[in-house]
Amino acid sequence: MTLTGHTAGTNKSGKLEVRSPLDGELLGTLPVHSVDDVLAAVARARRSAEVWGALSFKERRAHLLDYRRELVRRMDDIIDTVHRENGKTRADAAQELLLVLNHLTHAANRAAQLLKPRHVSSGILANYRSRVSYHPYGVIGVIGPWNYPLHTPMGSISYALAAGNAVVFKPSELTPLSGKLLVECAQAAIPIPDLVQLVTGYGDTGAALASAKVDKLAFTGSAPTGRRVMAAAAENLTPVLLELGGKGPAIVTADADLDRAASGVVFGSLMNAGQACISTERAFVVDAVYEEFVGKVVALVRSLKVGRDEQAHYGAMTLERQIDRVREHVREAIEQGARAVVGGLESFKGRFVEPIVLVDVTPTMKVMREETFGPVLPIAKVASAEEAVRLANDSSFGLGSAVFARTGGYELAERLRTGMTSINAVAAFAAIPGLPFGGVGESGFGRIHGDEGILEFVRVKAIAYERFPLPGLGMAFGEPDKQLPQLKQMMSKLYGGSAIDGVSSVLRKLVGR
Ligand code: NAD
Repeated sequence: MTLTGHTAGTNKSGKLEVRSPLDGELLGTLPVHSVDDVLAAVARARRSAEVWGALSFKERRAHLLDYRRELVRRMDDIIDTVHRENGKTRADAAQELLLVLNHLTHAANRAAQLLKPRHVSSGILANYRSRVSYHPYGVIGVIGPWNYPLHTPMGSISYALAAGNAVVFKPSELTPLSGKLLVECAQAAIPIPDLVQLVTGYGDTGAALASAKVDKLAFTGSAPTGRRVMAAAAENLTPVLLELGGKGPAIVTADADLDRAASGVVFGSLMNAGQACISTERAFVVDAVYEEFVGKVVALVRSLKVGRDEQAHYGAMTLERQIDRVREHVREAIEQGARAVVGGLESFKGRFVEPIVLVDVTPTMKVMREETFGPVLPIAKVASAEEAVRLANDSSFGLGSAVFARTGGYELAERLRTGMTSINAVAAFAAIPGLPFGGVGESGFGRIHGDEGILEFVRVKAIAYERFPLPGLGMAFGEPDKQLPQLKQMMSKLYGGSAIDGVSSVLRKLVGR
């Protein structure tokens, strides 16, 4: 065991030792759950899912608001645990918890209205009443990463619970103590045993959950693991929601407010030491304002402090081997002609990596193509916003993005092939609970947060109710010789004309137009 970093992963025998990336301190020891343990947890969850699913929305809301209260009651413990386990500053941990509370509140409040059964038009089957209703899946498996150990899994857990499901949660092996606190608070607040359960361990425990025939699996992590999870889930046709990595672009146009743009891009690339799936990992700045923008960025970045104390703007790198990857991206970029205008290869100081700003980057460099996941901001000069959009979209990822523009922001945002865009800000979409969160391409599919994020956790039921039989329009055998001409006449009248004029008044009434 090394003393200076996360050693989770070194002891695969049966115990998971959690050490702080800040100083190597042993923070706790948890079990490595086996396949049988995971199956038993899923079986217990099935029973609690029935009890929870049978409650009214009002009752579930009350319990979820108790859960929220419990998280607030234990906030100091939670903030401290996230700080020590993940290495982020206490302020960053507190901000994460605030987002969790905001999302939990939204999910609890919104589910009843959204998931009410609703009637839809019956089209030409006007003798039918047609209803869509929503039912909880049952048991949701949630597998989480380490970079936002509260916010990320709770993006699934809150919404899955609000929709009426039980949850079995496998946190990252690097941050299981933060996950344990989330589960403990749920268990303390909601008097339904095993409604939210924790299973801990490494990838094998996650793989066991992916194969455990849960009713849906919500995975957040890297794209390579996402592929393995999806393959395992496919064996049982378990539906999956995949929230994977990103290579977030930010576009700064000629008419952007450059102070806002510099402040946003710097925050977007360095928040949480750059370890965010929605980090700004590439900035594309239009020629006309490039020099001024870079000047502002450099001044701002030089004023930032990295470390573990209360004055630090961001903290440690959580995963030791990630540091090598970040260094490699920076090294390769410099070797291929990029210039470091702040920091450089000398910025790597053990667990703490000081900010690095690169210019003269080219689209083929790793730092512009692969997820860096570190405090590095590469800035590319582009001739126009048009070119910026083209280069931003030239990526296998498509998660978060940002546009800084006084005019035309919506238009540029709509053209970015990413799940989310903030205009004149970064990452704000993740903090707005009504907005769905998720990606395209290698960033995954499905959505957490928002109405779409609740709908991910329900199965949809369609009911067609025949109110009275209608000859020729019912689901029964009629007179075959008359049926063909009737159907042909109907098609011509209903759909053969150029407009509604061709439809007879009777049929018009039938289709409700
Ligand atoms: P990871 O893929 O290494 O691990 C994620 C989780 O999967 C962990 O709990 C791990 O134990 C588990 N796991 C590993 N192998 C498994 C397997 N075969 N089957 C099932 N589970 C398995 O990711 P990470 O390093 O913990 O997290 C960082 C990644 O997560 C980055 O790529 C980041 O962009 C991404 N991320 C995405 C979002 C999002 O919402 N899109 C949010 C946060 C992080």
